[in-house]
Amino acid sequence: LATILEFLDADGAAVCLKDARDLLGATPDAEQTRALAAWLAANVQTDVFATQALGRLYPPAEAFAEAASGVLALNITPGKPDYVLWFRREQVQTVTWGGDPTKPVEVVDDGSMRLSPRKSFTAWQETVSDQSRRWKPVEVTMARELRGVIVAVVLEQAAELTRLNFELQQSNIELDSFAYVASHDLKEPLRGIHYYAQFLLEDYGDQFDDEGRERLQTLTRLTQRMDDLIESLLYFSRVGRVDLLHSPVDLNEVVREQVELLRPALSQAGMTVRVTGPLPIVQGDSSLLGEVFQNLLSNAIKYSDKPDKWIEIGVLADAPASSAGGSVTLAPNPRSSTAVVYARDNGIGIALEHQEVIFQIFRRLHARDEYGGGTGAGLTIARRIIERHGGRMWVESAPGEGSTFYLSFDA
Ligand code: ADP
Repeated sequence: LATILEFLDADGAAVCLKDARDLLGATPDAEQTRALAAWLAANVQTDVFATQALGRLYPPAEAFAEAASGVLALNITPGKPDYVLWFRREQVQTVTWGGDPTKPVEVVDDGSMRLSPRKSFTAWQETVSDQSRRWKPVEVTMARELRGVIVAVVLEQAAELTRLNFELQQSNIELDSFAYVASHDLKEPLRGIHYYAQFLLEDYGDQFDDEGRERLQTLTRLTQRMDDLIESLLYFSRVGRVDLLHSPVDLNEVVREQVELLRPALSQAGMTVRVTGPLPIVQGDSSLLGEVFQNLLSNAIKYSDKPDKWIEIGVLADAPASSAGGSVTLAPNPRSSTAVVYARDNGIGIALEHQEVIFQIFRRLHARDEYGGGTGAGLTIARRIIERHGGRMWVESAPGEGSTFYLSFDA
């Protein structure tokens, strides 16, 4: 931005792109800049527009006349409020006229016109305010040339992004089919090992001593665990490949169904479920979304050591833009149409350094059989389901203080 400011001899500069605004030097404030860009987009057709007296064309500019009476505006995307703006301060000038500029033009005997009282040679002075120094034609030309360069770079980046996206999609597809094929083919020999261990136990059990039998039992347990892991991997790859249903899904209904399904486990754990809603209606696949809530509810049961456990499901009042994950500080954005649903529990909580790890496949924070066991795939699958719905999933938590899982949905 400093380079942009130096590009023209200006007192302030702003770059308005999408919803973001960067300001440097003497400028209107962020909201005034946004409104100015919107006004320019609606009223100015040219790529480059310059005035040294903005207040005369756009009355709201009088509020910031001192900081920015003059503006040179460079439109990046036609019809959109995407602008690079340069501002110049007000320069109160004293203009000396040859005559009283307010006096009407006088027609003299020979038919020519002249200003009166020219003949007295009195200098008339007027103070001109709400104006900045003029923008020189060369400056306007420089801005126009800069626009060409910016547009070329933006176009190039967009093309590069499309290419990378395509490659990423391809490699995701390949990875999914690899996971599918690998896990599918692993199941076969695994089943063999499992049967042989069982067979040894049943038919030759009496030929082993206690230690031998115990080892065979461990072997069958391990094959069972490996089978669970493979199943999770297969399911994870399936969630990445299946075509999603796209219909309106009432999340109130989805949560109600899952609570009903889990009722025995919930009451056994002494867990209260509160839904502070109404929850939104989103576009998507109700059975996959049901699995996400099932995972959140069963994790809330598993990862709690409190006698009176609770989980609260609700929607954030000010829907913020979604986070890419990890810790989040969200600026409320009332114009965004993102709905963010949360599930907050009073469980054991998760340390900051583990808040991304838990979304990785097969990652558990506990010993295999602690806290009810599990393969460590539940949250990975849940996040994938939400991402396939165009949303994001992340957690905020502190050890001992419970966890809040967030799901964002584009409405
Ligand atoms: P699993 O429950 O099979 O281990 P998940 O992917 O569902 O797999 O969870 C991964 C890890 O995240 C869990 O092992 C646990 O350590 C942590 N975790 C998940 N949900 C919660 C929760 N509500 N509170 C505390 N820790 C949680």
